[in-house]
Amino acid sequence: MHNFRIGVVKTLAAAVAMAALGFGTAAHAQQGQAMDFAKLQIKTTKLADNLYVMEAAPGVGNVMMLTGADGVLLIDSMFPQLHDKLMAAIRATGATGPVKYVINTHLHGDHTAGNGLFAKDGTVIIAQDSVRRRMLLPKSELTPAYPPENVPTVTYNDRMTLHFDGEDIELIHPPAAHTDGDTIVYFKKANVMHVGDLPASFRFNNIGVNDGGSVDGMIADGKLVMKLANSQTKIVPGHLGPVVGFKEITIQDTMFQTVRDRIAKMIKQGKTLEQIVAAEPTKDFNEGRLGGNITPARWIGLIYTDLTRRMKK
Ligand SMILES: [Zn+2]
Ligand SMILES: [Zn+2]
Repeated sequence: MHNFRIGVVKTLAAAVAMAALGFGTAAHAQQGQAMDFAKLQIKTTKLADNLYVMEAAPGVGNVMMLTGADGVLLIDSMFPQLHDKLMAAIRATGATGPVKYVINTHLHGDHTAGNGLFAKDGTVIIAQDSVRRRMLLPKSELTPAYPPENVPTVTYNDRMTLHFDGEDIELIHPPAAHTDGDTIVYFKKANVMHVGDLPASFRFNNIGVNDGGSVDGMIADGKLVMKLANSQTKIVPGHLGPVVGFKEITIQDTMFQTVRDRIAKMIKQGKTLEQIVAAEPTKDFNEGRLGGNITPARWIGLIYTDLTRRMKK
């Protein structure tokens, strides 16, 4: 038991140091490190007549596809190493048209690293203003920059609507949550919504604390999704889909709020991060949530980083 705890603390210290250096999932996932792409298979699920979701692995952002007479529109682009498999999955649905648009839900590499190969073929990459702004920021030696070919060329501020393949596709920029450049994509006619990495499926979501995100924003936007959607809406999460509903979002929102409050209380009591992790504030929520990329210790570290930064201000 003793050794186990030391192990946890060591790993945690490393994880927090990495997060502080910007080595969170953004940079890490951008390069697709530690993922064996050759082994991954893409699973396609049909959500409506001309709408599909494609999943590759828990660490790869879920892609949505709209197809029709105008061509193909995608939400997010996986990794370049998966490009051929993704194209094969698109064509396997019978979609023959060119990929005209890729809409990015946010800047993280597990959703945008594949952009460049689409852009090379003439696809227009669309995202919220902040995605482009942050992707163009100079990075440190330790944090690789986003490749220029992946940077969106069409950006919007708070809302935008695309009319394509007979659908009205609403892009909604919610208050900063996972990052400060999040987009919720709502296919109004089909009543299907892609919420990127906002709280939806059962997991410990990454919080982009170095990309303008915050735990309180995540909690607020979970509630916002349920205002923008209705109880019949098929909600596609950024990971571990293919579809969730209000029930899952409500449970996630409660979990976020409960754990956030526990951690805030312990910070106020003067506890260190190691002590907070050892107190296991996620313990009663771990079941069913260990399938994602973020361990409870790492998740606690993200919330701790976010809350302590805000308290200092
Ligand atoms: Zn993601
Ligand atoms: Zn993300």
